[in-house]
Amino acid sequence: MKSIKLRAMAKINLSLDVVGERPDGYHDLRMVMQSVRLCDQISVSPTRAPGVRMKSNLHCLPLGGSNLAVKAAELIMEECGIRSGVFIDLEKNIPVAAGLAGGSSDAAAVLVAMNLLFELGLSEEKLRELGVRLGADVPFCIMRGTALAEGIGEILTPLPALPDCSILLAKPDIHVSTKDVFGALKLSEKTVHPDTDGQVEAVREGDLAGTARLCGNVLESVTEVRYPVIGAIKQTMKARGALAAMMSGSGPTVFGIFEEKSRAEEAADALRKGSDASYVCVTRPYHSRSSHSGTAG
Ligand code: ATP
Repeated sequence: MKSIKLRAMAKINLSLDVVGERPDGYHDLRMVMQSVRLCDQISVSPTRAPGVRMKSNLHCLPLGGSNLAVKAAELIMEECGIRSGVFIDLEKNIPVAAGLAGGSSDAAAVLVAMNLLFELGLSEEKLRELGVRLGADVPFCIMRGTALAEGIGEILTPLPALPDCSILLAKPDIHVSTKDVFGALKLSEKTVHPDTDGQVEAVREGDLAGTARLCGNVLESVTEVRYPVIGAIKQTMKARGALAAMMSGSGPTVFGIFEEKSRAEEAADALRKGSDASYVCVTRPYHSRSSHSGTAG
C-alpha cells in the first residue's frame, strides 16, 4: 500500500454571523466560507504496527492524541474497524490558532486520505458526518471552495467560485481563545449582523466588489475591541487599496481582499516593515471543489 499525499487548505470567513445560542453551548452560525491556497501538506502511510504515529516540522505542535490529525485517523480506524496502523507526516504552513482552521483542515485531509488509502469507499457526505465530530469547521474543510455554512457550520450549501483576486493574510502576535470569544459575545438588538444573504447573492453573481462590501464578522465586536492591533492591520490594508479587510473566524488573523496582486504585495510589505503582524502572506482563493484525488507516493 502506498502513501497518500494531500494539501490541507486554510479558510477565511467572508462573513460570520451568530444567529442564536443553543442549549448545548454551541452557537447557531451563518457564514460564507472561502478556502485559500495557503495549505499544510499531509502524507499518510500505512504501518505494520497498529496505532497512529505522526511527525511535524512544527515542533511546538502536540503529536499525540490531542492533535486533530491523529484524532481524525483514530476516529476513522475505529469507525471502519481498521487494525493496521498509520504514520502521518504533517508539514505545517498554516499559522496555528489563527482563525484559519488549520487543525480542522488537517483533520479533514486525514479523513480523506484514510478513505483513499484503505479504499473504504465512504461518500463525501459520510466523511463530513464523521468530520463534524472532530470540529465544526471540518465538514467545510472536506468540501472546500466557497460555501454558505449554517447550523454549527456543518450544513453546507456550495456557492460558485469567488472571482480570482489576491488575499492578504496578516496575523498579529497575540493568542485568542475561540471559546472565550464566543463566551464574551453578547447578542442584543444592538448587535450589527452582516447581510449574509446579500453576500451570498453577490457571490452567486460573481460580484467581487459586492462580496467584499458585504464582508462582516460579528465576533469582531469582541476581539477587535480587546485587541486594537486588529483594527490597525485592517486600516493598513484598506489604506493600500483592499476592497475589504476583516478578521477571519474568531481571529486574530486579518484578511484583505485585493483586485490586484501588486497592491496586495505593497500592503504585505508595509505590514512586514511594521510591528503589528508577526505573520504575513499573500494567497489566492482556492477554487476547486472537485474531490481530493490525492497523490500516491
Ligand atoms: P478555527 O479557525 O477552526 O477556530 P484555528 O485556526 O483558530 O481554528 P487551529 O490552528 O486549528 O486554530 O488550532 C487550534 C488549537 O488546536 C491549537 O491550540 C492547537 O494546539 C490545536 N491543534 C491540534 N491539532 C492541530 C493541528 N494539526 N494543527 C494546528 N493546531 C492543532
